[in-house]
Amino acid sequence: MPASAAHHPPLACTVRGCHEPLTRAGRTWTCGRGHTFDIAKSGYVNLLQPQDRRSRDAGDTRAAIDARARLLTKGVGRVAVDRVVDVACGLLADGGIVVDLGSGSGETLDAIAQTRRVIGVGIDLSTAAAEVAARRGAAVTWVVANADRRIPLLDESTDLVISQHARRNPRDCARLLRPGGHLLVSVPAPDDLIELRQAVQGESVLRPRADLVIDEHTRDFALASRIEVRERHFLDRAELLDVLRGTYRGARTSAAPRLETLTELGVTFAAEVCLFRRR
Ligand SMILES: [Zn+2]
Repeated sequence: MPASAAHHPPLACTVRGCHEPLTRAGRTWTCGRGHTFDIAKSGYVNLLQPQDRRSRDAGDTRAAIDARARLLTKGVGRVAVDRVVDVACGLLADGGIVVDLGSGSGETLDAIAQTRRVIGVGIDLSTAAAEVAARRGAAVTWVVANADRRIPLLDESTDLVISQHARRNPRDCARLLRPGGHLLVSVPAPDDLIELRQAVQGESVLRPRADLVIDEHTRDFALASRIEVRERHFLDRAELLDVLRGTYRGARTSAAPRLETLTELGVTFAAEVCLFRRR
């Protein structure tokens, strides 16, 4: 590999059956077979193939992305993000390659890139998310792709994959991670948003997810650690609506009228962060 290529992320062509390495020249990524992907004006590259698109407006809406970004700016959800960033920075050496599946508006990778000189790749199905993330600058390569399908990274190319309340793809993560590489998965803890769920759905079912995550990774990964992070915020009605808009359970606009009588609510934000090591 030429020295200059060492600074490029190990992207792979997404044309069906190709999987050749992509190299960047100017505003275009090209594979050895001549397939090309232009970099959008805002700075991300769209590697999504027509067959991988579930709908015309795939992925999170701009409203959901903006709602999450507003909350994070106020520190809501910050504890979980900071923990993931801390663990990631502890694992990554300078020059390490880190991929975020479902990178959203890019807070996590951006924070990692500010601490470590890493090669970061943020993947999201939403072009709206990629547009917002790309404003953070060129330290990270922002990619639109479907992480449920073949992730557009070369085999055994990656040191760390992150999935925060986002897509998981254990088999393909095992393919793109180098042996001994790590996978950091954050999922909602059973009591995440419990007060809000109680208020809008009239129920407070505890939904354990981490055990399921551990089960689905046992084939290719060893569990290295499992930690819980928790924070509590008193939110006003506008902020509660942002939580509904911004979560994966969100867009439940049918729930919004139930919030009309609420002026303030103490809400728990809780996540379980599981660190796996590729066998
Ligand atoms: Zn190709």
